Amino acid sequence: MDREALMQAVQMRMSERRFKHVLGVEETAVALAERFGESPEKASVAALTHDYAKERSDEEFQLAIDQGNFENKTELLKYGNAIWHGLVGADFVARELSITDEEILNAIRLHTTGAAEMTLLDKIIYVADYIEPGRNFPSVEDARVIAFSDLDQAVAFETKHTLAHLVEGENPIYPKTIETYNRWVAGIK
Ligand code: GDP
Ligand code: FE
Ligand code: FE
Ligand code: FE
Repeated sequence: MDREALMQAVQMRMSERRFKHVLGVEETAVALAERFGESPEKASVAALTHDYAKERSDEEFQLAIDQGNFENKTELLKYGNAIWHGLVGADFVARELSITDEEILNAIRLHTTGAAEMTLLDKIIYVADYIEPGRNFPSVEDARVIAFSDLDQAVAFETKHTLAHLVEGENPIYPKTIETYNRWVAGIK
């Protein structure tokens, strides 16, 4: 699929507001790719598809988890859309949009939680999702400046602020989010 066809397929699956977010992530991801030497085409495809499955029902995700190849399915089923739409959503992207590039699919899988080990593309999508032009939380300007100077530091900044926000709201923390924190914020290697 070329970019136009991919954009249409994605747009059909989500609200206008979310599609605008996706285009913002694409613009930012391509800029980060150019800044740090990743393929802009890969960044574009990963960004356009990262939230492709976000508006699917819980039932669809539960079925996909039952039928798919996931570690710790019982544990995974206890979470919800926030965790499923990337990790499980990547399988919908692969199947329905015929995307076979594992680097792109992995960036989609990791885009919400991050991971202890992240490729350049993983970091670009994780950070672009956080700082795209439509985001407007108080520290986003700081995050934008950090992102274009030091991507690893931006991963740390985002992870720390997201985790603090989740704890403040007494949300469940997915174990992978803790692994990301330990590696990128606390510096455990
Ligand atoms: P979006 O899809 O563009 O809205 O952004 P993300 O995919 O990055 O995040 C989706 C939601 O998941 C956000 O509200 C995050 O704060 C939240 N989130 C990130 N990590 C965790 C986690 O470990 N547990 C829970 N419950 N939510 C998380
Ligand atoms: Fe997302
Ligand atoms: Fe994010
Ligand atoms: Fe997103």
